[in-house]
Amino acid sequence: MTYREAVRETAGQLRAAGIENETAESLFLLEFACGMERKDYLLSQMEEMPPEQWERYRAAAAKRCGHIPLQHLTGEQEFMGLPFTVNRHVLIPRQDTEVLVEEALKILRSGWPQEQELQPGGQASGEAAQEKLRVLDLCTGSGCIAVSLKALCPQIQVSAADLSADALSVARENAQRNHTEIHFVQSDLFADISGCFQMIVSNPPYIPSREIPALMPEVREHEPLLALDGGADGLGFYRRIIAEGVGHLEPGGWLLFEIGYDQGEAVSACMRAYGFTEIEVVRDLAGLDRVVKGRRK
Ligand code: GLN
Repeated sequence: MTYREAVRETAGQLRAAGIENETAESLFLLEFACGMERKDYLLSQMEEMPPEQWERYRAAAAKRCGHIPLQHLTGEQEFMGLPFTVNRHVLIPRQDTEVLVEEALKILRSGWPQEQELQPGGQASGEAAQEKLRVLDLCTGSGCIAVSLKALCPQIQVSAADLSADALSVARENAQRNHTEIHFVQSDLFADISGCFQMIVSNPPYIPSREIPALMPEVREHEPLLALDGGADGLGFYRRIIAEGVGHLEPGGWLLFEIGYDQGEAVSACMRAYGFTEIEVVRDLAGLDRVVKGRRK
């Protein structure tokens, strides 16, 4: 059997198991199981596949047909161009979440805050002001948001919290892997967080509990419920973070959330009720509401 035939046969098995994008998945599995890169495949697709490689490929495909996420087989997911280790204790980083990171970076790179917004009487330039900039990521999970912010904007100080000790150990590993220094805290939202920040970001669990059973098996059976379940209406974490966040944000500081496609209005209204200004909903590449941001007065 040639590599190409093997990829085709595996794609058919994946499709029969109800997995979408079967050709792309089949290629990813081949690359993972055989330690190949795409160029290796393109160069050798008409060659015979050694039996031991076919065995490894078949074993990986069988797991994937059982709806184990590809990222749990490879142990990896790329996010913002950086490599992240993942396992069943953390949500697999999603491309949608890059919208949140991009929005945060836009603010951080805009020259904000001006020195006078930080400490009255300061002489320092915008750059020096940025060195004092403290950013908090709540529900950090794999650490993808915190780590990519620090990697792409190294002068800021980043703290990251999660309730789960297992998630935090993955996040710590990701911080190390990407050579970023982050202050990690095990905390139920703000419970063990002290001090004030200029920016708070969060992609909290936001799926309404009753919708969990309808999720794809990859998500429902293999990703942590703790990272998904947002309570009865999916908005519980936003309410708590907004209410408690006011006391942990400097005046003029920013709060940014990832949200579900239908939560923009409710989250904006809640932020308005707590006196936030400049509230804006930002869409993702699919045109769906994905991020809400606003400033403390
Ligand atoms: N902050 C992590 C992410 O965006 C985890 C989010 C979560 O667990 N809800 O992937």
